[in-house]
Amino acid sequence: MPNALVNDLDLTIAQIIRKYDLLRNKKRSKSLGQHFLCDSSLLKKITYCALPFDNKDIIEIGPGPCGLTREIVECSKDNNIYCIEKDTSLKELHKNFQQNSNSNVNFIYDDALKIKPQNLTKKEIIIISNLPYNVGTQIFLNIFKDLSRISKMILMFQKEVADRICAKIGTKAYGRLSVISQLLCDVERIFDISNKAFFPEPKVMSSVIKVTPKKNKILGIRKLEQLTEKCFQFRRKTIYTILKKMNLEIETDKVLDECKIDKQTRPENITPKKFLELSEKLL
Ligand code: SAH
Repeated sequence: MPNALVNDLDLTIAQIIRKYDLLRNKKRSKSLGQHFLCDSSLLKKITYCALPFDNKDIIEIGPGPCGLTREIVECSKDNNIYCIEKDTSLKELHKNFQQNSNSNVNFIYDDALKIKPQNLTKKEIIIISNLPYNVGTQIFLNIFKDLSRISKMILMFQKEVADRICAKIGTKAYGRLSVISQLLCDVERIFDISNKAFFPEPKVMSSVIKVTPKKNKILGIRKLEQLTEKCFQFRRKTIYTILKKMNLEIETDKVLDECKIDKQTRPENITPKKFLELSEKLL
């Protein structure tokens, strides 16, 4: 039984992992993508990217042993902090954190995929997360369904996913995720983190990115999602062939002409803006 009287804030993250034997159930840890960042200077660096907090509320997805949560609390000036965690076996650890950290931190035990950030608070929101690798993209796309009141997000992904989000047009990584992310947000890669910084070590490298939703709202994102899904499914084909394949009731030549997109262009060479223009004319 862990000693509840010990203030966990006096321990390192590695000591907390040991104290609560967090990795005792290997299967559970693996399925929850639990790779804990133990290096406090990196945890600080991630948190500083989210500053200033102003009077916004902070949402952290997957606090785990509270490495990142500690730094968020350190930077907080009475900001409300909501931590969404799927692993209920961390409750005792979180209770210790809550009692000792003297902050407005709330733990919510649920699947982040089922939670709409806007339902947690009426204020402006900053999201900070070292996302679980296995569902990181899904959680990200889920947040994209409604970006209202989200002022910025500092997110850590598997490097390959961050590459896709930030990819430049014409590159191999450029795809659906790049188009949708870059249309709705400004995306910026901040730094990479070696797999050695985690316990247990993942096989992949990680990257931290900053995602800032754009002010202008885009309607009809559904159409864009459908179009980009088809296009990047056939990324070696020309846009003309793909649109024909989609059996739309449109004059493909005319629509492409109106959007000033050459018939022979491949999806990877179409800018996010052009994709939006095209999707508005289709479906
Ligand atoms: N923030 C910590 C832990 C990152 S590991 C750190 O930086 O070290 C990912 C965390 O997300 C784990 O705590 C895991 O239990 C949690 N998690 C996994 N899937 C989740 C989901 N669907 N919803 C909420 N939390 C989830």
